[in-house]
Amino acid sequence: MYDAVIVGSGFSGLISAIHLIRKNITNFIILEREEIAGGTWQNNQYPGARVDVLSKLYSISFEPYDWSELYPDQQEILDYTNYVIDKHNLRDRIKTSNNVSSMVLDESTNTWTINTHGGDTYTTKVLINATGYLSQVNIPEIPGAETFAGKSMHTAQWDHSYDLEGKRVAVIGTGASAIQVIPSIADKVDKLHVMQRSANWVIPRKNKKLSNFHRKLQKFSLIRKLNRSFVYVYNEIRVIGFEYVPLLMRSTVRLGSLMHLYKQVSDKELRKKLTPTYTIGCRRILISDDYYPALQKDNVFLQATGVKEINRDGIVTSDDKLIELDAIVYATGFHAYANDKCLPFDIIGRNGKNMSAAWNNFPQAYVGSSVPDFPNFFFVSGPHTATAHTSAIFISESQMGYIIGAASRIIQDDNCNSIEVKKEVCDKYNQDIQDATKSSVWEKGNCTSWYKNEDGLNTAIYPGFTFIFRRRANRFIASEHIIT
Ligand code: NAP
Repeated sequence: MYDAVIVGSGFSGLISAIHLIRKNITNFIILEREEIAGGTWQNNQYPGARVDVLSKLYSISFEPYDWSELYPDQQEILDYTNYVIDKHNLRDRIKTSNNVSSMVLDESTNTWTINTHGGDTYTTKVLINATGYLSQVNIPEIPGAETFAGKSMHTAQWDHSYDLEGKRVAVIGTGASAIQVIPSIADKVDKLHVMQRSANWVIPRKNKKLSNFHRKLQKFSLIRKLNRSFVYVYNEIRVIGFEYVPLLMRSTVRLGSLMHLYKQVSDKELRKKLTPTYTIGCRRILISDDYYPALQKDNVFLQATGVKEINRDGIVTSDDKLIELDAIVYATGFHAYANDKCLPFDIIGRNGKNMSAAWNNFPQAYVGSSVPDFPNFFFVSGPHTATAHTSAIFISESQMGYIIGAASRIIQDDNCNSIEVKKEVCDKYNQDIQDATKSSVWEKGNCTSWYKNEDGLNTAIYPGFTFIFRRRANRFIASEHIIT
């Protein structure tokens, strides 16, 4: 029996592990479904993958790193992940190739049993689910897709053994992943068809290599902390536009995005196709300097007519044109918390209650962590913890006060066997989230996105300033819980 089992070895899982150790809780393991640890940045190895939050903030607050760029690429972030794993001696604790199939509560002992597809079983007092909200790939059910004779792959499941050189390729999707992969493969392939269902707002990235002088300055803790705080505050100001004063968003960021489009695309027709119809901010704002130029290369074709079906030879567009292809890249995103496919396994709590069924396509948790009827179970980066403006790592760290506070009571206090959030506390928290979302651009901005479920309700985003989230999530309040 373990004191704790963490599922997922991405940043959320690693941060949880470090915080457990800080509390002198060492009888724990981390289960990882992939063969190699690292989470998102291990999985998303598509060409061009790069973070879109400044590295000064997209890093663990107490683990500084000698970043080489403002926005490092996937390999550098994966290197950082490995640095953190080794520095905290976590590698031996990470059990790779352990793909969880179910988690089941034993009500008589308030312990959890974790079953894996490989047939292994683990039991634990505390279960920390750190699988993240962008880990379940979404491959849309396009009629005929299974008949395609060429290569198909999702951006998060990139097959490096497949050579794109000289191939006729289509990328389905124009979100954050697509706009990175398209410029990175455009020069390699013979023809590249970009299947756009709807255009998105793009602003300049302005990435740059950090000079040696700058990197040396970052070694001074005070300078580094001031830098990080500045980036944090600068990002946080954007919440005012997302949440409270949409006019601010329209008059500044939208204008900047339109200027970017006008500067980079001279063809009027193309510009029209690339101009979004929803309010900026409703979906994630994309950042790129090379997406629009890539679309104007001679061998790149923007197909804005939609995908009707796929057959043996390629994609048939909505206007019945066949695009012959050797490969299809699905840059079609993830299930996030939008529907019942968001959880990769069954989580069975009290009275046989299945988390997915209980949520019924409307995931809710208290501070994105705990759910009534699921005692001693905690999500890191659960429902309503995504943000559109800042670092996901900041949010995961914010949840530690609550999660590890509760976990240490369960593990270290002989008088505490189980902790479960009260239903009324969870309901009130989620009502506040929905109320706050009502006036926001996510609800009012006339778009569909992975932030929302099919009914248009926010299931993913924390609608507000993240320092308020942190204040709420950084401590465990006993009176809000049923403690046995
Ligand atoms: P996404 O933003 O959800 O985009 C998915 C794309 O696929 C959209 O353009 C969507 O079209 C299209 N699509 C889905 N189903 C389709 C269908 N049946 N037919 C045609 N098109 C279809 O996914 P993503 O680009 O992977 O990004 C997801 C999130 O991951 C981002 O918002 C971001 O938070 C994160 N991310 C971050 C980075 C980074 O840090 N640099 C990079 C990549 C991803 P519609 O728009 O019309 O729905």
